[in-house]
Amino acid sequence: MKVKNIKAYGAEASDAAVEPLEIKRREATPKDVELEILYCGVCHSDLHFVRNDWGFSVYPVVPGHEIVGKVINVGAEVSKFKNGDIVAVGCLVDSCRSCGNCKKDLEQYCPEWVGTYGSHDKHLDLPTFGGYSESIVVDEHFVLTIPKNLDLAGIAPILCAGITTWSPLRKWNVGKNSKVAVVGLGGLGHMAIKLASALGAHVTLISRSPNKIKDAMDLGADQVVISTDEAQMEKVQNNFDVIIDTVPYAHDINPYIGTLSTDGTLVLVGYLGPLDPMLNSIPMIMGRKTVAGSLIGGIAETQELLDFCGEHNIISEVEIIKIQDINEAYERMLKSDVHYRFVIDMASLKS
Ligand code: NAP
Ligand code: ZN
Ligand code: ZN
Repeated sequence: MKVKNIKAYGAEASDAAVEPLEIKRREATPKDVELEILYCGVCHSDLHFVRNDWGFSVYPVVPGHEIVGKVINVGAEVSKFKNGDIVAVGCLVDSCRSCGNCKKDLEQYCPEWVGTYGSHDKHLDLPTFGGYSESIVVDEHFVLTIPKNLDLAGIAPILCAGITTWSPLRKWNVGKNSKVAVVGLGGLGHMAIKLASALGAHVTLISRSPNKIKDAMDLGADQVVISTDEAQMEKVQNNFDVIIDTVPYAHDINPYIGTLSTDGTLVLVGYLGPLDPMLNSIPMIMGRKTVAGSLIGGIAETQELLDFCGEHNIISEVEIIKIQDINEAYERMLKSDVHYRFVIDMASLKS
Protein backbone atom coordinates (compact mmCIF):
# COMPACT_ATOMS: atom_id res chain seq x y z
CA MET A 1 0.00 0.00 0.00
CA LYS A 2 1.30 3.46 -0.93
CA VAL A 3 1.82 5.79 2.00
CA LYS A 4 2.85 9.39 2.39
CA ASN A 5 4.33 11.36 5.27
CA ILE A 6 2.33 14.25 6.64
CA LYS A 7 2.63 16.82 9.43
CA ALA A 8 0.82 16.23 12.72
CA TYR A 9 0.90 16.98 16.45
CA GLY A 10 0.97 14.17 18.97
CA ALA A 11 2.48 12.70 22.11
CA GLU A 12 5.21 10.05 22.23
CA ALA A 13 4.55 9.02 25.86
CA SER A 14 2.06 9.59 28.68
CA ASP A 15 4.31 12.18 30.33
CA ALA A 16 5.27 13.94 27.09
CA ALA A 17 3.86 17.15 25.70
CA VAL A 18 1.91 17.23 22.43
CA GLU A 19 4.52 18.23 19.86
CA PRO A 20 5.12 18.26 16.10
CA LEU A 21 5.44 14.79 14.58
CA GLU A 22 5.51 13.27 11.15
CA ILE A 23 3.03 10.42 10.55
CA LYS A 24 2.18 8.08 7.70
CA ARG A 25 -1.18 8.11 5.94
CA ARG A 26 -2.25 5.65 3.25
CA GLU A 27 -2.98 7.06 -0.18
CA ALA A 28 -6.71 6.92 -1.00
CA THR A 29 -7.93 3.42 -1.96
CA PRO A 30 -10.94 3.19 -4.38
CA LYS A 31 -13.47 3.69 -1.54
CA ASP A 32 -11.55 6.39 0.33
CA VAL A 33 -11.97 10.12 0.67
CA GLU A 34 -8.94 12.25 1.50
CA LEU A 35 -9.54 15.49 3.41
CA GLU A 36 -7.39 18.49 4.12
CA ILE A 37 -8.27 19.18 7.77
CA LEU A 38 -9.58 22.70 8.38
CA TYR A 39 -10.77 22.48 12.01
CA CYS A 40 -10.41 19.91 14.77
CA GLY A 41 -12.21 20.07 18.13
CA VAL A 42 -10.40 19.27 21.39
CA CYS A 43 -12.24 16.61 23.41
CA HIS A 44 -11.42 15.66 27.00
CA SER A 45 -10.89 12.14 25.59
CA ASP A 46 -7.88 13.54 23.67
CA LEU A 47 -6.34 14.48 27.00
CA HIS A 48 -7.25 11.11 28.61
CA PHE A 49 -5.60 9.34 25.67
CA VAL A 50 -2.44 11.47 25.62
CA ARG A 51 -1.96 10.92 29.37
CA ASN A 52 -2.96 7.22 29.22
CA ASP A 53 -5.68 7.74 31.87
CA TRP A 54 -7.50 4.60 30.67
CA GLY A 55 -4.38 2.41 30.42
CA PHE A 56 -4.81 1.41 26.76
CA SER A 57 -3.10 4.22 24.85
CA VAL A 58 -0.62 3.27 22.13
CA TYR A 59 2.08 5.79 21.24
CA PRO A 60 2.54 7.97 19.43
CA VAL A 61 -0.96 9.33 20.08
CA VAL A 62 -2.22 11.83 17.50
CA PRO A 63 -5.58 12.88 18.97
CA GLY A 64 -8.54 14.58 17.35
CA HIS A 65 -11.94 13.15 16.40
CA GLU A 66 -14.01 16.25 15.73
CA ILE A 67 -12.85 16.91 12.18
CA VAL A 68 -14.11 19.29 9.51
CA GLY A 69 -12.20 19.29 6.24
CA LYS A 70 -12.14 19.85 2.52
CA VAL A 71 -12.14 16.88 0.14
CA ILE A 72 -8.90 16.92 -1.85
CA ASN A 73 -8.97 13.46 -3.39
CA VAL A 74 -11.50 10.65 -3.88
CA GLY A 75 -11.04 7.00 -4.87
CA ALA A 76 -12.53 5.69 -8.14
CA GLU A 77 -15.52 4.02 -6.41
CA VAL A 78 -16.49 6.96 -4.18
CA SER A 79 -20.02 8.09 -5.07
CA LYS A 80 -21.09 10.51 -2.32
CA PHE A 81 -18.26 13.05 -2.36
CA LYS A 82 -16.17 15.04 -4.81
CA ASN A 83 -13.14 17.31 -4.59
CA GLY A 84 -13.90 20.63 -2.91
CA ASP A 85 -16.78 19.33 -0.74
CA ILE A 86 -16.63 20.40 2.91
CA VAL A 87 -17.28 17.32 5.03
CA ALA A 88 -16.77 15.90 8.52
CA VAL A 89 -15.25 12.88 10.24
CA GLY A 90 -16.03 11.97 13.84
CA CYS A 91 -14.87 9.27 16.23
CA LEU A 92 -15.20 6.26 13.90
CA VAL A 93 -13.27 5.44 10.72
CA ASP A 94 -14.14 1.77 10.22
CA SER A 95 -16.07 -1.25 11.53
CA CYS A 96 -16.80 -4.79 10.29
CA ARG A 97 -20.01 -3.69 8.43
CA SER A 98 -21.57 -7.14 8.86
CA CYS A 99 -22.24 -7.82 12.57
CA GLY A 100 -25.64 -7.29 14.17
CA ASN A 101 -24.67 -3.88 15.54
CA CYS A 102 -23.25 -2.68 12.21
CA LYS A 103 -26.47 -3.80 10.48
CA LYS A 104 -28.43 -1.73 13.02
CA ASP A 105 -26.26 1.39 12.36
CA LEU A 106 -24.61 0.97 15.76
CA GLU A 107 -21.04 0.81 14.42
CA GLN A 108 -19.78 2.21 17.73
CA TYR A 109 -20.69 -1.11 19.40
CA CYS A 110 -19.14 -3.29 16.67
CA PRO A 111 -16.48 -5.58 18.21
CA GLU A 112 -14.17 -4.49 15.36
CA TRP A 113 -14.86 -0.76 15.35
CA VAL A 114 -11.87 1.39 14.49
CA GLY A 115 -11.56 4.70 16.31
CA THR A 116 -10.24 7.74 14.49
CA TYR A 117 -7.17 7.60 16.73
CA GLY A 118 -5.62 5.06 19.05
CA SER A 119 -7.13 2.01 17.30
CA HIS A 120 -5.30 -0.48 15.11
CA ASP A 121 -5.27 0.70 11.49
CA LYS A 122 -6.44 -2.23 9.32
CA HIS A 123 -4.59 -0.83 6.28
CA LEU A 124 -1.21 -0.01 7.82
CA ASP A 125 0.29 -1.86 10.74
CA LEU A 126 0.14 1.27 12.88
CA PRO A 127 -2.19 2.98 15.33
CA THR A 128 -4.84 5.16 13.71
CA PHE A 129 -3.94 8.86 13.86
CA GLY A 130 -6.53 11.58 14.42
CA GLY A 131 -7.27 15.10 13.37
CA TYR A 132 -4.37 17.06 14.88
CA SER A 133 -2.85 16.62 11.42
CA GLU A 134 -2.74 18.02 7.90
CA SER A 135 -5.00 15.45 6.27
CA ILE A 136 -6.85 12.20 6.83
CA VAL A 137 -7.95 9.33 4.56
CA VAL A 138 -11.28 7.70 5.45
CA ASP A 139 -13.65 5.21 3.82
CA GLU A 140 -16.59 7.18 2.44
CA HIS A 141 -19.06 5.29 4.67
CA PHE A 142 -17.53 7.11 7.65
CA VAL A 143 -17.51 10.58 6.07
CA LEU A 144 -20.41 12.89 6.95
CA THR A 145 -22.19 15.62 5.05
CA ILE A 146 -22.49 18.94 6.86
CA PRO A 147 -25.24 21.55 6.72
CA LYS A 148 -24.25 24.51 4.54
CA ASN A 149 -25.70 27.17 6.85
CA LEU A 150 -23.44 26.58 9.86
CA ASP A 151 -20.04 27.98 10.91
CA LEU A 152 -17.37 25.36 10.16
CA ALA A 153 -15.41 25.67 13.43
CA GLY A 154 -18.68 25.46 15.40
CA ILE A 155 -19.69 22.27 13.60
CA ALA A 156 -16.55 20.32 14.59
CA PRO A 157 -17.61 19.56 18.23
CA ILE A 158 -20.93 18.15 17.02
CA LEU A 159 -18.90 15.17 15.78
CA CYS A 160 -18.13 13.97 19.31
CA ALA A 161 -19.52 16.22 22.07
CA GLY A 162 -22.75 16.55 20.10
CA ILE A 163 -23.35 12.95 19.10
CA THR A 164 -22.30 11.58 22.51
CA THR A 165 -25.10 13.51 24.17
CA TRP A 166 -27.61 13.26 21.28
CA SER A 167 -27.50 9.47 21.17
CA PRO A 168 -28.73 8.97 24.78
CA LEU A 169 -31.25 11.81 24.46
CA ARG A 170 -32.76 9.93 21.49
CA LYS A 171 -32.40 6.46 23.00
CA TRP A 172 -34.27 7.57 26.13
CA ASN A 173 -36.93 9.37 24.05
CA VAL A 174 -36.35 12.90 25.28
CA GLY A 175 -39.01 15.28 23.99
CA LYS A 176 -41.43 18.00 25.02
CA ASN A 177 -42.57 16.50 28.30
CA SER A 178 -39.14 15.34 29.48
CA LYS A 179 -37.21 16.65 32.42
CA VAL A 180 -33.50 16.35 31.65
CA ALA A 181 -30.51 17.12 33.88
CA VAL A 182 -26.99 17.53 32.56
CA VAL A 183 -24.12 17.04 35.01
CA GLY A 184 -20.99 19.10 34.20
CA LEU A 185 -20.83 22.12 31.90
CA GLY A 186 -17.95 21.48 29.53
CA GLY A 187 -17.82 20.36 25.90
CA LEU A 188 -20.34 17.53 26.20
CA GLY A 189 -22.46 19.34 28.78
CA HIS A 190 -23.01 22.48 26.72
CA MET A 191 -24.05 20.46 23.67
CA ALA A 192 -26.38 18.36 25.86
CA ILE A 193 -28.12 21.53 27.10
CA LYS A 194 -28.52 22.91 23.57
CA LEU A 195 -29.79 19.63 22.13
CA ALA A 196 -32.16 18.69 24.98
CA SER A 197 -33.55 22.21 24.90
CA ALA A 198 -34.05 22.04 21.10
CA LEU A 199 -35.91 18.75 21.60
CA GLY A 200 -38.32 20.67 23.85
CA ALA A 201 -37.26 19.25 27.22
CA HIS A 202 -37.12 21.14 30.51
CA VAL A 203 -33.35 21.28 31.14
CA THR A 204 -31.43 21.57 34.41
CA LEU A 205 -27.67 21.94 34.66
CA ILE A 206 -26.10 20.33 37.74
CA SER A 207 -22.67 21.91 38.17
CA ARG A 208 -19.97 22.54 40.75
CA SER A 209 -19.37 25.99 39.27
CA PRO A 210 -21.61 28.94 40.27
CA ASN A 211 -19.72 31.10 37.75
CA LYS A 212 -21.31 29.10 34.91
CA ILE A 213 -24.97 29.81 35.86
CA LYS A 214 -25.52 32.66 33.39
CA ASP A 215 -23.84 30.78 30.54
CA ALA A 216 -25.99 27.72 31.20
CA MET A 217 -29.18 29.78 31.04
CA ASP A 218 -27.96 31.46 27.82
CA LEU A 219 -27.29 28.01 26.34
CA GLY A 220 -30.90 26.99 26.99
CA ALA A 221 -31.02 25.60 30.54
CA ASP A 222 -34.20 26.36 32.50
CA GLN A 223 -32.42 26.18 35.86
CA VAL A 224 -29.04 25.46 37.44
CA VAL A 225 -28.46 23.37 40.56
CA ILE A 226 -25.12 23.68 42.34
CA SER A 227 -24.21 20.11 43.23
CA THR A 228 -22.37 21.02 46.44
CA ASP A 229 -25.42 22.90 47.84
CA GLU A 230 -27.51 20.32 49.74
CA ALA A 231 -30.61 22.52 49.89
CA GLN A 232 -30.58 22.98 46.11
CA MET A 233 -30.09 19.24 45.55
CA GLU A 234 -32.95 18.51 48.01
CA LYS A 235 -35.33 20.64 45.91
CA VAL A 236 -34.82 18.41 42.85
CA GLN A 237 -35.34 15.01 44.50
CA ASN A 238 -37.41 12.49 42.46
CA ASN A 239 -37.49 14.90 39.56
CA PHE A 240 -35.57 13.97 36.38
CA ASP A 241 -36.51 11.48 33.66
CA VAL A 242 -32.99 11.44 32.22
CA ILE A 243 -29.66 12.60 33.59
CA ILE A 244 -26.66 12.87 31.25
CA ASP A 245 -23.55 12.70 33.46
CA THR A 246 -20.51 14.10 31.61
CA VAL A 247 -18.04 14.30 34.52
CA PRO A 248 -14.65 12.93 33.33
CA TYR A 249 -13.29 11.57 36.62
CA ALA A 250 -14.46 9.23 39.41
CA HIS A 251 -17.19 10.97 41.40
CA ASP A 252 -20.05 10.06 43.71
CA ILE A 253 -23.13 9.46 41.55
CA ASN A 254 -25.34 8.45 44.52
CA PRO A 255 -26.61 12.02 45.13
CA TYR A 256 -27.85 12.13 41.52
CA ILE A 257 -29.83 8.88 41.83
CA GLY A 258 -32.07 10.58 44.37
CA THR A 259 -32.93 13.25 41.82
CA LEU A 260 -34.25 10.68 39.29
CA SER A 261 -38.00 10.15 39.08
CA THR A 262 -39.40 6.60 39.18
CA ASP A 263 -38.29 4.89 35.93
CA GLY A 264 -35.70 7.63 35.44
CA THR A 265 -32.28 6.83 33.96
CA LEU A 266 -28.86 8.27 34.71
CA VAL A 267 -26.65 7.82 31.64
CA LEU A 268 -22.92 7.89 32.26
CA VAL A 269 -21.07 9.26 29.24
CA GLY A 270 -18.07 10.87 30.96
CA TYR A 271 -16.17 8.74 33.44
CA LEU A 272 -14.85 5.36 32.27
CA GLY A 273 -14.00 2.97 35.11
CA PRO A 274 -15.20 1.53 38.42
CA LEU A 275 -17.52 3.78 40.43
CA ASP A 276 -16.02 5.15 43.62
CA PRO A 277 -17.79 5.39 46.02
CA MET A 278 -19.90 2.37 45.12
CA LEU A 279 -23.42 2.60 43.87
CA ASN A 280 -26.07 2.13 46.57
CA SER A 281 -28.87 -0.04 45.14
CA ILE A 282 -31.48 0.94 47.74
CA PRO A 283 -32.80 4.09 46.01
CA MET A 284 -32.62 2.31 42.66
CA ILE A 285 -34.72 -0.60 43.86
CA MET A 286 -37.12 1.54 45.86
CA GLY A 287 -37.73 3.83 42.86
CA ARG A 288 -37.17 1.54 39.84
CA LYS A 289 -34.29 3.72 38.69
CA THR A 290 -31.62 2.84 36.11
CA VAL A 291 -27.94 3.63 35.70
CA ALA A 292 -26.76 3.21 32.10
CA GLY A 293 -23.83 4.09 29.83
CA SER A 294 -23.56 5.25 26.24
CA LEU A 295 -20.76 5.54 23.68
CA ILE A 296 -20.69 8.23 20.94
CA GLY A 297 -23.21 7.33 18.17
CA GLY A 298 -23.35 5.50 14.84
CA ILE A 299 -22.81 7.10 11.44
CA ALA A 300 -26.52 7.36 10.51
CA GLU A 301 -27.33 8.89 13.91
CA THR A 302 -24.44 11.37 13.57
CA GLN A 303 -25.78 12.40 10.16
CA GLU A 304 -29.27 12.75 11.71
CA LEU A 305 -27.77 15.06 14.35
CA LEU A 306 -25.87 17.17 11.80
CA ASP A 307 -29.09 17.62 9.81
CA PHE A 308 -30.98 18.50 13.02
CA CYS A 309 -28.30 21.09 13.90
CA GLY A 310 -28.65 22.58 10.41
CA GLU A 311 -32.44 22.87 10.80
CA HIS A 312 -32.21 24.35 14.30
CA ASN A 313 -29.10 26.49 13.73
CA ILE A 314 -27.16 24.74 16.47
CA ILE A 315 -23.37 24.92 16.71
CA SER A 316 -20.91 24.60 19.56
CA GLU A 317 -19.62 27.62 21.51
CA VAL A 318 -15.98 27.57 20.51
CA GLU A 319 -12.69 29.18 21.42
CA ILE A 320 -10.42 28.89 18.40
CA ILE A 321 -6.79 28.07 19.16
CA LYS A 322 -3.60 27.38 17.24
CA ILE A 323 -2.19 23.86 17.34
CA GLN A 324 0.90 25.32 19.06
CA ASP A 325 -1.35 26.19 22.07
CA ILE A 326 -2.69 22.68 22.61
CA ASN A 327 -0.77 21.87 25.80
CA GLU A 328 -2.00 25.06 27.46
CA ALA A 329 -5.54 24.22 26.31
CA TYR A 330 -5.28 20.83 28.07
CA GLU A 331 -4.22 22.55 31.31
CA ARG A 332 -7.21 24.89 31.05
CA MET A 333 -9.47 21.91 30.39
CA LEU A 334 -8.25 20.28 33.60
CA LYS A 335 -9.30 23.45 35.46
CA SER A 336 -12.77 23.35 33.76
CA ASP A 337 -11.82 26.64 32.10
CA VAL A 338 -13.26 25.91 28.64
CA HIS A 339 -16.11 28.02 27.20
CA TYR A 340 -17.15 25.55 25.93
CA ARG A 341 -14.97 23.76 23.38
CA PHE A 342 -11.51 24.50 22.07
CA VAL A 343 -11.30 24.09 18.31
CA ILE A 344 -7.95 24.09 16.53
CA ASP A 345 -7.65 26.14 13.37
CA MET A 346 -5.52 23.63 11.48
CA ALA A 347 -4.11 26.32 9.18
CA SER A 348 -1.77 26.95 12.15
CA LEU A 349 -0.06 23.61 11.48
CA LYS A 350 1.44 25.11 8.32
CA SER A 351 3.05 28.04 10.16
P1 NAP B 1 -14.79 18.93 29.68
O1 NAP B 1 -15.05 19.90 28.58
O2 NAP B 1 -13.53 18.98 30.43
O3 NAP B 1 -16.06 19.05 30.68
C1 NAP B 1 -16.21 18.25 31.82
C2 NAP B 1 -17.01 19.02 32.87
O4 NAP B 1 -17.24 18.15 33.99
C3 NAP B 1 -16.27 20.21 33.47
O5 NAP B 1 -16.45 21.40 32.75
C4 NAP B 1 -16.89 20.33 34.86
O6 NAP B 1 -18.14 20.99 34.80
C5 NAP B 1 -17.17 18.88 35.21
N1 NAP B 1 -16.06 18.28 36.00
C6 NAP B 1 -14.76 18.18 35.67
N2 NAP B 1 -14.06 17.51 36.61
C7 NAP B 1 -14.95 17.19 37.57
C8 NAP B 1 -14.84 16.50 38.79
N3 NAP B 1 -13.67 16.01 39.21
N4 NAP B 1 -15.96 16.37 39.53
C9 NAP B 1 -17.13 16.87 39.10
N5 NAP B 1 -17.28 17.53 37.92
C10 NAP B 1 -16.21 17.68 37.17
O7 NAP B 1 -14.89 17.43 29.11
P2 NAP B 1 -15.73 16.86 27.86
O8 NAP B 1 -14.91 16.99 26.62
O9 NAP B 1 -17.09 17.38 27.93
O10 NAP B 1 -15.71 15.30 28.20
C11 NAP B 1 -16.32 14.82 29.37
C12 NAP B 1 -16.02 13.35 29.53
O11 NAP B 1 -16.73 12.61 28.53
C13 NAP B 1 -14.54 12.97 29.35
O12 NAP B 1 -14.21 11.99 30.32
C14 NAP B 1 -14.49 12.35 27.98
O13 NAP B 1 -13.46 11.42 27.82
C15 NAP B 1 -15.83 11.67 27.94
N6 NAP B 1 -16.34 11.36 26.60
C16 NAP B 1 -17.09 10.23 26.47
C17 NAP B 1 -17.64 9.91 25.26
C18 NAP B 1 -18.53 8.71 25.11
O14 NAP B 1 -18.71 8.24 24.00
N7 NAP B 1 -19.12 8.21 26.19
C19 NAP B 1 -17.40 10.73 24.15
C20 NAP B 1 -16.67 11.90 24.34
C21 NAP B 1 -16.14 12.22 25.57
P3 NAP B 1 -18.67 21.94 36.00
O15 NAP B 1 -17.63 23.02 36.14
O16 NAP B 1 -19.96 22.42 35.44
O17 NAP B 1 -18.86 21.10 37.21
ZN1 ZN C 1 -14.53 12.97 22.01
ZN1 ZN D 1 -19.61 -4.78 13.07
